[in-house]
Parts: sequence; C-alpha cells; structure tokens
Amino acid sequence: MSVNRLKAFQFPCRDDNYGVILHDPQSGLTISIDAPEQEAIADVLESKNYRLTHILTTHHHGDHVEGNAGLKAQHDCQIIGPVEEQSRIPGIDKAVGHGDSFELEGHRVEVIGTPGHTLGQIAYHFPDQCMAFCADALFALGCGRIFEGDAEMMFTALNRLASLPDDTKIYAGHEYTLANAKFALSVDPNNEVLVTRAREIEHLRDDGKPTLPTTLEVEKQTNPFLRAGDPAIRQHLGMESASDLAVFTEIRARKDRF
Ligand code: ZN
Ligand code: FE
Repeated sequence: MSVNRLKAFQFPCRDDNYGVILHDPQSGLTISIDAPEQEAIADVLESKNYRLTHILTTHHHGDHVEGNAGLKAQHDCQIIGPVEEQSRIPGIDKAVGHGDSFELEGHRVEVIGTPGHTLGQIAYHFPDQCMAFCADALFALGCGRIFEGDAEMMFTALNRLASLPDDTKIYAGHEYTLANAKFALSVDPNNEVLVTRAREIEHLRDDGKPTLPTTLEVEKQTNPFLRAGDPAIRQHLGMESASDLAVFTEIRARKDRF
C-alpha cells in the first residue's frame, strides 16, 4: 500500500528560524514541526484553512517551543516531544525518545535521539516521505552548537542522521547556511562540490530564497561535520592519523572560534 505524500510548507519566522507545516489532504492531519512563533504558524494555517492536529517538538529552546501553548489553545492539537526534556516542553501530551516510532493517520514517524545541542534533542524521520526534521542538530553545511552535551554526543547524533537514506530531505531549524559555507570552505577549500554549492547559496540568499531543505547526499559531499574521515580535510588540519571523533571535535572547536 502506498502512502499519500504529505504537503510540506516551509516558512521563515523569528530572526532566522524556519517553521514547517505538513499536511495530508485526505485525513486532514496537519503537523507543525516545532512552534518557533505562534503568529507566523497561525497565519499559514489560516491562509490554508487547516486545523493544526499535532506539534512535533525537537528540543526545549524557546525559539522551538514558544508557540506551543497558544497554538494548543487555538487548535487543541496534540504535542509530542522529547522524553528527556518533557518537563521543559510546554503543553506536552506524549513523550518519545530514541528508537521509538509511531503513526499519525498512517504516516510512520521514527524518533532519532540527537543529543549534544541539548541533552534530549530528537529528530523526526518520516521514512515514507523521505524527510527528516533535524532542528538544531544537523544544518545545511553545519551542525548545532554544543550547549549541553559534548562533542562525542553530537558526533554520535550526526552519525545516526548520516545513516538515513541518501535521498532523505533534511529540514533544519535555522537559515545559517551562508555563514556555514564560509566556515566549511576554511577547512575544505579544495572541495569542488562545496565551492560550487557555496556560490549557489550566495545567489539564493541574494534573492532572499531559502537554502533548505537540503539532502543527506549533498551534506555528505559538502558538510565538514559529516566528513571527519575525508583525507583532504584531515590533511588540511594536520590530523591524518587521528580518530574521526578527534577530527570532528577539532572542526567543531574551530567553528566556535570562526
Ligand atoms: Zn536550539
Ligand atoms: Fe534553534
């Protein structure tokens, strides 16, 4: 049995966040990935005449949960969020963690633990839709800042995401791609695919267009945080014989100082 395609609407909100609404026209299922800003999300729902049925929360930061309470009051939606942060997720109805899966109107959702940025952050993978919502773990050409965890946690989180199918569409919480591209070039300057992509990203941003979603395949070719094993990056860092984790940790430390 083939599953309907979900319609996906991505829209900018706050300073540099993205909101995403998923909608199944047949069942009416309407999901907000995080709730960065109540008004922006309510506007999209109103313009499409959708009733919000679910919020899938990735982590407790304010720019991901601020709209939870207001949207729940408006739409009586169910809020699903990370079990390890449930006390900090406003309005949470159902807590999920790494390895859990559930179905929403026949759409399978797999939960991937992605700690590091926060200790309990999770990503949501929709295998039938080839989509993953990675919030502040994996960005286009970047990864989240490590606030609560350590580099090893983040490295493990990114490896979990990197094991998804190559054609998976990767949605992320923020439009940080232009700055990430500049950093990526500083550690991987001779990567032709990256050089070309960085130029495309500049054009997109000049035109006010989003650089997301991206795909896992493109990230594996260009995102230095997924490329700790790459010989050219290792040589550039003078870390030819270091472990992948040590190389990743060095790249993350350089990005923090960049
Ligand atoms: Zn965050
Ligand atoms: Fe964020």
